[in-house]
Order: sequence, then structure tokens, then C-alpha cells
Amino acid sequence: MKILLLGKNGQVGWELQRSLAPLGQVLALDSLSNEYCGDLANLQGLAETVRTYAPDVIVNAAAYTAVDKAEQEREQAFRVNAEAVALLAQAAAQIDALLVHYSTDYVFPGQGAAAWREEDAVGPLNVYGESKLAGEEAIQASRCAHLIFRTSWVYAARGNNFARTMLRLATERDSLGVIDDQFGAPTGAELIADVTAHAITAARRDPALSGLYHLAAAGETTWCGYARFVLSQAVGLGVPVKVSAEQVQSLTTDAYPTPARRPANSRLDTQKLQQAFALNLPDWRQGVARMLMEIQGK
Ligand code: NDP
Repeated sequence: MKILLLGKNGQVGWELQRSLAPLGQVLALDSLSNEYCGDLANLQGLAETVRTYAPDVIVNAAAYTAVDKAEQEREQAFRVNAEAVALLAQAAAQIDALLVHYSTDYVFPGQGAAAWREEDAVGPLNVYGESKLAGEEAIQASRCAHLIFRTSWVYAARGNNFARTMLRLATERDSLGVIDDQFGAPTGAELIADVTAHAITAARRDPALSGLYHLAAAGETTWCGYARFVLSQAVGLGVPVKVSAEQVQSLTTDAYPTPARRPANSRLDTQKLQQAFALNLPDWRQGVARMLMEIQGK
């Protein structure tokens, strides 16, 4: 099986390099790759890559993910998250390839407390969400075989992440306040990559599995709850924090204005994915605890 992986150095892309390796021959690209074009802003180059490599599976982990910046850079966000995705979908349909793509709970309006199901009405609150929704719609319209995974609150051990920032701030400052009225489940890039590899194998055997799925860790928390969990683990990890988990102050979204509006409810109902692929999604704390041990070298 020939797999084209785009966005190989992102949080999810990096983990996909590992999880896709056993499935076949993987051509992994980023925007600066030379021999083949992996730049999603270069539509012509991208089409040429698909044509010459002729993959059986295209996995698109590349995306314009700068949520606040997208408010000012609408055109660039749509080019990468919608136009390039439309091109990949059309190319996949032409060569009968399976297209795997990632989307977000930001396609939803974010009200209420129920976990979003795949068929719930969409209504993005910001430009990033609009551009990701346009990408989903382009894939569905192309009729290519596809797996679209909507996920949320993605973290990885590599690079900067929320947990690392909380650990740093708690060692530098005497107090810490974190938003406590946005709900979701921190989801590890490792988990997303492992589920992706499993789902590709299943969808190649059974084309009826083609479709849209919600993929997130089990359970729920707020950013404040997430920060408290991270700091509760800090002592055991030997991090000299000055702020304990109990001392983290609860803030409302209004106290932390950002250019892009964020949904208060990022909960995703993952029943469809778990049933279709016979999977069990672990609680978010399990992956976060593991990532903390990894970044602290434990
Ligand atoms: P990252 O931001 O970590 O990675 C995205 C990658 O895309 C980066 O390596 C980036 O490269 C690359 N990229 C950006 N523009 C281009 C371009 N023009 N051509 C090629 N590559 C490009 O994102 P994640 O791994 O976290 O996200 C994976 C998927 O999950 C995305 O589809 C995202 O929308 C979705 N998602 C992410 C969430 C999150 O919390 N992070 C939440 C919900 C969904 P460079 O850094 O060089 O620009």
C-alpha cells in the first residue's frame, strides 16, 4: 500500500509517521519538501504530487491551525483548509484512493452541554471553523472514499503544549488563573494516529466504513480542570511548582478575550467511531499523565 502523508511535522503528522509505517510505503511531506511538493498553498504542485506518486491512501494532517490569526488571514486559511482539501478529494476520487482528513469541533456553534454527534447542525463561531467546515463539505461533495475525523484539544509531547506551559507558569508565578467555562477532552496526537492506522486498515477492507467520525479521548474537563490535573501530577514528576492544583483560580472566558470566539462546548460524542471500528477510547487523563512523564523524562 502506498500512503501519502501531508503535514508530517505537525502534532498529529509526527505521530502518523510512526503509526502508518507498518501499513506500507509512506511518502511523508511538509510544506518545505523538495522532491515532491507538500505545500497545501501550492495547489498545482499538490496535484502534481498526487498524480506522480499515485497513492492508495492520502492522509492529510496539514492544516492552517492558527485560530486567532485566521480572523485576519481568511484567504490563507481557506486555501489550506478548504481549497487544497477539495483538490485532494477530487484527486482521490479520480485515482480511487482513500482520503483521510482531520477536522474539528469548531465546526459547531458550541452552546449547550450535550456531546456533539456527527449529524448535529453545524455553525462555526470563527474563520478557522468555517474553513475547516468548507474542507469537510468539499470531501463529502467529491464522493471519494474518505475518513474524516473531527477531534478536539489536541496535544503532543513534542513541541509546546498547554501542559508544558502550565508547568512552567506554576514554577515562575505565585498564582495562576485558567478558563473554567469551556468544556472538552484533551486528546493525544498519539491516540489520533493509532486510531487512524487501525481505521485505514478496516476501511480498506470494508468501503462502507467511509464517512465522518468524532474522535476524542473519553471524559471531559475544562482548561482549568486540565491545568489542575497537570499540576496534581507535578509533585510526583519532581517539578518545583509554587502553585498547587487547588490554588489554580477559575476564570470565565470573558476574562481572557481573544480575536477568535471559542465554543464553550467542545464535547464530542464518539459512539459512532467506537462501534464502527470496535475501538475503546481511553479517558483523557491516561494520555495526559503519560505525556507528562514523557516530557519530564520519567
Ligand atoms: P499542527 O498545527 O501541529 O500541525 C499542522 C501542520 O500543518 C504543521 O506541521 C504545519 O506546518 C502544516 N501546514 C500549515 N500550512 C501548511 C501548508 N500550506 N502546506 C503544508 N503544511 C502546512 O496541527 P495538529 O497536528 O494539532 O492538527 C492536525 C489536524 O487536527 C488539523 O487538521 C487540525 O485542524 C485538526 N485539529 C487540531 C486541533 C488542535 O487542538 N490542535 C483541534 C481539532 C482539530 P508549519 O508548522 O511548518 O506551518
